[in-house]
Amino acid sequence: MIRVVFLGAPGAGKGTQAERISKKYNVPHISTGDILRAAVREGTELGKLAKSYMDKGELVPDEVIIGIIKERLSQEDVRERGFILDGFPRTLKQAEALDRMLEELGMPLSKVIYLNVDDEEVVKRLLARGREDDTEEVIRRRLKVYREQTAPLIDYYCEKCILVEIYGVGEIDEITRKIEEALGLEG
Ligand code: AMP
Repeated sequence: MIRVVFLGAPGAGKGTQAERISKKYNVPHISTGDILRAAVREGTELGKLAKSYMDKGELVPDEVIIGIIKERLSQEDVRERGFILDGFPRTLKQAEALDRMLEELGMPLSKVIYLNVDDEEVVKRLLARGREDDTEEVIRRRLKVYREQTAPLIDYYCEKCILVEIYGVGEIDEITRKIEEALGLEG
C-alpha cells in the first residue's frame, strides 16, 4: 500500500507527480493547498482564514492544517488505499503530529519523496504557472518560508531512513519513473 509524503519547494513538481501516481495506482491524493483553495472558492470560514495567509505566502497555522489532515486521513478510502500527501507536512510540528496520527491509525509512512529542484528553476516555473499567489513578491516569501520552516524536514525524514531524494528537473515521465522505482512500483 502506498503511504507517501511528497516533499520539496513550491514549484518542485509535487502536485504534478502526486496526481500522476494517484491516478495510475488509484491512491488518494491529499493536497492541503487544493483543500484550502477549494475552501477559499466556497467562501467558508476556513477559506476566509486561509486566504489571509495564502495571499502573503505565509503558512496557515499548524492547528488548522493538522485538524484538516486528521479528518481526511480518518476516511475510508485512505484506510483501504493509502495516501499521497502533497504540501503537508510543512513544519516540524506538522511532521510530529502526522507521526502520531499515523501511529494511531497503524499506517506508518513507507517513504518520503524529496523532489529536489534548483532555486532558479523553481522561480521560473512559478512565474510561468501564474496562480493567484504566484506574484514575484509572494513567491520570494514562500521560498523563504520553505527554506526556514519546511526544508528542516529533509533531515527529519533522513534520520528516520525513509527519505528518497529525486532530482526534479527533466522529463516529467522520467521523474515519474524514478518515483515509481523508489516506491517499489513496477511502472
Ligand atoms: P501549495 O498549493 O501547497 O503551494 O499551498 C498554497 C498555500 O497554502 C501555501 O503557501 C500556504 O499558505 C497554504 N498551505 C498549504 N499547505 C499548508 C501546510 N501544510 N501548512 C500551512 N500552510 C499550508
